[in-house]
Amino acid sequence: MKNKPVIIVGGGASGMAAAIVLAREGISVTLLEQNSKIGKKILVSGNGQCNITNRHITPERFYSQNPNFISEVLAGYPYEKIEQFFATIGLPLAEGKEGKVFPMSFQASSVVKLLEFEALRLGVDIVCDCKVMSIKNEERAFLLETSKGTETCSALLLASGSSAAPRLGGSASGMKLAESLGHSLIESHPSLVQLCSSEKWLKQASGAKVNGTAKLYANDILVAEKSGDILFADYGVSGLAILDVSREASLQLAQYARCRLSLDLLPQMSKEQLAQFLTERIQKGSQKSLVLWLTGVLHERLISIVLEQSGCKVKLERELDRKEIGKLVYTIKNLRLVIEKTKGFESAEVATGGVDTSEIESDTMASRRVSGLYLAGEILDVDGDRGGFNFHFAWLGGMRAAQAIIEKIKS
Ligand SMILES: Cc1cc2nc3c(=O)[nH]c(=O)nc-3n(C[C@H](O)[C@H](O)[C@H](O)COP(=O)(O)OP(=O)(O)OC[C@H]3O[C@@H](n4cnc5c(N)ncnc54)[C@H](O)[C@@H]3O)c2cc1C
Repeated sequence: MKNKPVIIVGGGASGMAAAIVLAREGISVTLLEQNSKIGKKILVSGNGQCNITNRHITPERFYSQNPNFISEVLAGYPYEKIEQFFATIGLPLAEGKEGKVFPMSFQASSVVKLLEFEALRLGVDIVCDCKVMSIKNEERAFLLETSKGTETCSALLLASGSSAAPRLGGSASGMKLAESLGHSLIESHPSLVQLCSSEKWLKQASGAKVNGTAKLYANDILVAEKSGDILFADYGVSGLAILDVSREASLQLAQYARCRLSLDLLPQMSKEQLAQFLTERIQKGSQKSLVLWLTGVLHERLISIVLEQSGCKVKLERELDRKEIGKLVYTIKNLRLVIEKTKGFESAEVATGGVDTSEIESDTMASRRVSGLYLAGEILDVDGDRGGFNFHFAWLGGMRAAQAIIEKIKS
């Protein structure tokens, strides 16, 4: 059997970017994808809008056990390089809030359609419904056992992502393939994921949404703090502020730390301002219940929960004194929620961990363990913040690996 020059495992963000860059140089590329279609994660990303990258790419927005790798990989691949790549496939970009960048159409489907069109136009052989089950590194060639038969190639790019979102093709299988070839794995945990709690009051709070601040405590030490939407649900909490602290929660829970959230339901006011505001709301002689008195200030589904957690002893607005107001202020700014677990890989957007990046060349994404092997995207021990950072790393990893393969083939 004649070796194929290049096989890419995974038709997601990094695999598709690599395939296009390689094929533009006239290199014959075969891309194997286990799903029936390429780019399933891209299609649902960013709530169907695909947050492609971010204008403010800095190493601090990414995480790995080997932070130097991140700085080195990002160097030379700024935002503009990704923008140019998408311009070449006919996809103009538009900037949203916080530097987030989307396709101008704000439709994730545009990204998949144009990537696929360009790859096919350039002659990339995209083989779907093809799961790679094992890889052997024979002399100067890789032998792949797939659900559609055996393939051999000279250069192999593993772009098979992480365990996050198995319904979209997320799986650890690529990491295990890398391990079987001699790579070490850093343990994976769900990130950008909802947090679960068995607090009884959640049933009552379910459906409430606030713009608040979430402080995450592990063994009573503050370990993360983020502001944004907080959504209450039967199982726990979600929303942007929660997703943003979820990475730390996931890692702490994996180490059996006692995790709790302290939610500030009115972060726009300091404790003192809130105490003054609430005191001014008291109407002398009013017969209003405390629930009615807090109506209009807090989400209605949260009022009786706040009253209960505060231990406030009085029932009517007119009975409130400084001490009772102080208890209420404290609870509104520190609603407690014990966190037992995350919602898992099923619901996570990304995964921490992956192939140890100290075994990867940062300029070429080449394996330091196996000649001819390249790795890009979420399969590696790199994950980023919400906001386009994860895709940025995937596109640039695919492009870097492709460039290195081109240079090797042409040298
Ligand atoms: C719901 C959701 C929303 C997201 N939104 C955003 C966003 O807006 N912005 C952002 O930056 N990031 C977002 N992400 C994260 C982003 O999708 C990933 O970081 C990115 O897709 C990683 O790219 P990748 O190429 O490494 O892997 P993927 O895009 O996951 O591609 C890997 C591919 O490999 C295939 N595969 C795996 N194993 C095998 C095998 N053994 N054989 C053959 N094929 C295999 C998979 O089916 C998959 O298609 C989101 C993720 C999810 C789940």
